[in-house]
Amino acid sequence: MTQVLVSVGSNQNDPQKQIQTAFMAIRDQFGRAQISKLYLTEPVGIIPQNEFINAAISFKTQSNSSEVLAYLMQLEVRAGRDRSTEVHHGPRNLDLDIILFGDEIHDDAELQVPHPRFRERRFVLEPLLDIAADQIDPVSKQSISQLFHVCSDTSWVRKMDEELLAV
Ligand code: ADP
Ligand code: MG
Repeated sequence: MTQVLVSVGSNQNDPQKQIQTAFMAIRDQFGRAQISKLYLTEPVGIIPQNEFINAAISFKTQSNSSEVLAYLMQLEVRAGRDRSTEVHHGPRNLDLDIILFGDEIHDDAELQVPHPRFRERRFVLEPLLDIAADQIDPVSKQSISQLFHVCSDTSWVRKMDEELLAV
């Protein structure tokens, strides 16, 4: 079984519901899964847009990384995401990124793991701290918690009071 860490984000069409729906679908597909607290976060880039809600999800699977990516992209489509009409770093209903796939390292166009930019993103690292603080990044050999403490990203990330109900 491989431990998978996924970053989930949304800033359109009821973000909290988008994340809840994605989490329930992941649990239906992969069995036991954990989700972090929800975080309100500052959008990356220069496009004026609503703040995001971000969270982190962890689960175990025997599927390979391309199968997991294909499933997550299917969930994005189900949430109404259409990349053909999308602006880079613009608003989106649902973004699901694989951050770590066990200790696998891939650098293909369709799948890069560890995710190439996750170490510089507070909105990815802070939610991951809730559920995977001790998980090791196979590239830097640092734990999530170590990466978080040296991360110099100054964009804001605020823990929300609401918890997702695991129904
Ligand atoms: P971003 O998440 O960087 O804003 P997108 O969500 O539009 O960008 O993803 C674009 C492409 O990134 C996807 O089609 C997918 O094939 C590719 N990709 C590469 N590595 C990963 C990864 N680790 N997780 C999710 N998608 C990835
Ligand atoms: Mg993505």
